[in-house]
Amino acid sequence: MAGDSLSSVFVNPSFSLYHSKARALPRNQCGSSWRHTEPGTKTTSLPIIRAARKEDIVIVGAGIAGLATAVSLHRLGLRSLVLEQAESLRTGGTSLTLFKNGWRVLDAIGVGSELRSQFLEIQGMVIKSEDGRELRSFKFKDEDESQEVRAVERKVLLETLADQLPPDSVYFNSKLTNISKSEGGETMLELVDGTRLSAKIVIGCDGIRSPIAKWMGFPDPKYVGHCAFRGLGFYPNGQPFEPKVNYIYGRGLRAGCVPVSPTKVYWFVCFNRSSPGPKINDPSELKKQAKELVRNWPADLLNIMDQTPDDTIIRTPLVDRLLWPAISPPASSGRVVLVGDAWHPMTPNLGQGACCALEDAVVLARKLANAVKSGSSSVEDALSSYGSERWPRVFPLSIRANLVGSLLQWENPVVCSVRNDVVIPKLVRLGPLLAHTNFDCQPL
Ligand SMILES: Cc1cc2nc3c(=O)[nH]c(=O)nc-3n(C[C@H](O)[C@H](O)[C@H](O)COP(=O)(O)OP(=O)(O)OC[C@H]3O[C@@H](n4cnc5c(N)ncnc54)[C@H](O)[C@@H]3O)c2cc1C
Repeated sequence: MAGDSLSSVFVNPSFSLYHSKARALPRNQCGSSWRHTEPGTKTTSLPIIRAARKEDIVIVGAGIAGLATAVSLHRLGLRSLVLEQAESLRTGGTSLTLFKNGWRVLDAIGVGSELRSQFLEIQGMVIKSEDGRELRSFKFKDEDESQEVRAVERKVLLETLADQLPPDSVYFNSKLTNISKSEGGETMLELVDGTRLSAKIVIGCDGIRSPIAKWMGFPDPKYVGHCAFRGLGFYPNGQPFEPKVNYIYGRGLRAGCVPVSPTKVYWFVCFNRSSPGPKINDPSELKKQAKELVRNWPADLLNIMDQTPDDTIIRTPLVDRLLWPAISPPASSGRVVLVGDAWHPMTPNLGQGACCALEDAVVLARKLANAVKSGSSSVEDALSSYGSERWPRVFPLSIRANLVGSLLQWENPVVCSVRNDVVIPKLVRLGPLLAHTNFDCQPL
């Protein structure tokens, strides 16, 4: 599609949308509704046919990828509409550790300083065995002066990103239920309440179970054999921990914690399990199970778990999908493109899923804006070039995250003692381990 046909996408101050941030798309304003009738006949049993509402850029999913993409586009002068299935921004959840590549993106889109002021800078990393013995410690700046590590509350990150958008940009209760190609190269999106939107460009940011990825031919992500409990300990009078990431490695079991803010500490416990098992909704049962796994481990960890409000505890089966060359579909198909977990779900072993979703957002927005503004290149080419540029970045990282997870979840006692007594104390070097965080998205 040539850029000219998208000129209306540029933000026009006089353009008005109908809806407030917290409302769903009203069905009666999405296009005219009418019934086929014959004069003089009763009409009640005839079907309702709704014209589709026309949109230029629709982003599906108001997670990190969706909101960061919308903010990046907005900064470059392009307006988009974000559809989110939930009734509000995800307020639950714990925290995410963001490395310097993630912070560069947050700076590029203008929210870095605001977030930095709320979250502690993490100075280093300590690795212990399950009996509390220190195996190794590192200082991030000793390895790389430019490294920046902070754990950020997911809720605050989402709210900060959403606050950058013009009012009425995010539509809640708007679950995508069907997607299809329509005439003229546009894409038809159908929502759970029957609303239909015809979009020139669709950006799928709908997470690991992305219906858009499925429609594009991607297989479901694969369970990797371990699950993670996560929680956010709360210390109203101040938490007592040094600003370090703490890891404890056991056999087929590992745990960790990282201070987030002066009053909050994030923790996780990762354990092997042959299948994800049934979903547990009772948070006190989740806490009980998590504590049971590490009951003889260092007391600090159990203390943080005790300080954790039940409603912040979650259990997640870990999954990924490796984007094998010549086998996996490309990131885009025509004017539909995937960003973040929808495209490259990876295990959290490198702490890079959200960082990469942020990187994707800026790279895609820049290419899309250039195509629209210059009019000299097509949108399809821009989306395809985004996929080609990002694939060599995300494919090796997904593989590495998977391998690191397998190594750390080993159960064999001999292998675990070699890992704890030789590899970690003598062989591991933090610099090369974190070389993937050197990615610099450049200012927008
Ligand atoms: C245990 C664990 C720990 C992690 N730790 C880190 C870390 O330390 N650092 C890091 O960088 N990353 C980490 N990650 C990865 C990170 O959480 C993800 O990569 C990141 O959340 C991806 O963001 P996203 O926006 O692509 O997807 P999501 O955050 O899943 O957002 C998708 C959004 O789409 C919406 N949606 C889905 N389907 C539809 C639909 N049909 N219609 C409308 N809306 C829809 C959802 O409701 C959701 O709001 C971790 C992941 C796990 C599981």
